[in-house]
Amino acid sequence: MQNQLPEELLKSLEKVNGFDLDKFVEVHQKKEIVASVRFNPFKLTPSQNTFLQLSNQVPWCNNGYYLSDRPSFTLDPLFHAGTYYVQEASSMFLEQVMKQTLDLDASIRVLDLCAAPGGKSTLIQSLISEGSLLVSNEVIKSRVNILCENITKWGATNVVVTNNDPKDFQRLPDFFDAIVVDAPCSGSGLFRKDSEAINEWSKDNVELCSQRQQRILADIVPSLKSDGVLIYSTCSYSVQEDEAICDWLLSQDEFESIQIQTQNQWNIVESHSDKFNGFGYRFYPDKLKGEGFFIAAFRKKGVTTSKQIKPKTKLEFIKKTQETTIVEWINDNENLVYFMHNNNAIAIHKSNLDYLLMLQQSLYLRKAGMNLGTIIRDELLPSHDLAMSYLINKNVQSIELKKEEALNYLRHQSFEVETKYKGWVLVRYNEVALGFIKMMPNRINNYYPMEWRIFNK
Ligand code: SAM
Repeated sequence: MQNQLPEELLKSLEKVNGFDLDKFVEVHQKKEIVASVRFNPFKLTPSQNTFLQLSNQVPWCNNGYYLSDRPSFTLDPLFHAGTYYVQEASSMFLEQVMKQTLDLDASIRVLDLCAAPGGKSTLIQSLISEGSLLVSNEVIKSRVNILCENITKWGATNVVVTNNDPKDFQRLPDFFDAIVVDAPCSGSGLFRKDSEAINEWSKDNVELCSQRQQRILADIVPSLKSDGVLIYSTCSYSVQEDEAICDWLLSQDEFESIQIQTQNQWNIVESHSDKFNGFGYRFYPDKLKGEGFFIAAFRKKGVTTSKQIKPKTKLEFIKKTQETTIVEWINDNENLVYFMHNNNAIAIHKSNLDYLLMLQQSLYLRKAGMNLGTIIRDELLPSHDLAMSYLINKNVQSIELKKEEALNYLRHQSFEVETKYKGWVLVRYNEVALGFIKMMPNRINNYYPMEWRIFNK
């Protein structure tokens, strides 16, 4: 097995803080599956879950739990309802870093730069306040769909999904209070889970990734406010992609490294970069229950000098008649404002209106705020986003499905329901919304997004 792990990698790690060759090789030989999920605090508490076999809590994450086995998540309707996200435990440590470096009760703007498929974004969203804004960006177009899907299922109003290159964010100088760069990397941290990654690993690729990581950081730094926090992470063990990147960043004299408190029993290894003694946190699968991961945090020095850009465009606010159409669908929330975009009614927190306009004139927005649905002749055709959202009014007519019915709904297969209702009906499973149907005189129209339907029998 040792031969299967790249010799060059093992050699390069010999002197790295916390690396123990024998234990590292042994844990990769065992190939133990460590499965974990993180619950969506707006939708489900761990005790309401009926499908997952939970074991211990992930010690550094409030809503993170290990599973005693890895089920087929596709067969759990609550997975599709966004009640939890299947996430590797080490990466949930982002929660500690954010809690220790940011005022999460304040209204802040956070950029998750390399966001697809959305693991870190859904975690960030659960941590920030309602009036905060998360910009969840993915540069690769084909990966934005899965990001939008996961963000939609998470059900939050304060997220904007963008599809931009890191350098595009230079159009927004001093905009963000925090930027998370979960960088594309050589992926050695995932060797235990994904043996394919072992075959794809090469020293040259580590070098290539290291250069790309520097480019990404250089491109994004101007959009971080002074005193703002930059969080950098990879799933690589290579120093070139971890501590060396910290050194490169600290060499620009724009940042100071932030130490994060960890508990001894967590077995997370604090490392120090060679030249500037920057703090980094290493996760080894032979020391804790999680995959390989590295994370470091920095504060930007200095005072903000450049002026914030002012929005030039205006939004088309919702008309009184349109507002009457939507009020019956949503919970009263005085912090929200509504505007129209291509006949769709969109809700956003009022503190984020100007920021949304600034984003709109600078970036390519794929999704912004909460799309409530399309208004046609004073009638709302409710969107799937609304079904997934905690904005939805409790009085919207709804029915509870049994598990097999719920799975058939998600498969777009036919199912029978007995209901007195006509028109739009929200379907639920275990009291959590799955999506809409429309009761017609002699059939049921299924409004679960066709592109997300499940195929599993
Ligand atoms: N943060 C994600 C999560 O927790 O679900 C995982 C992100 S993955 C480690 C890195 C992401 O960076 C990928 O989605 C990849 O498409 C994106 N990426 C690749 N090249 C990039 C580049 N040059 N600039 C920014 N992002 C890039």
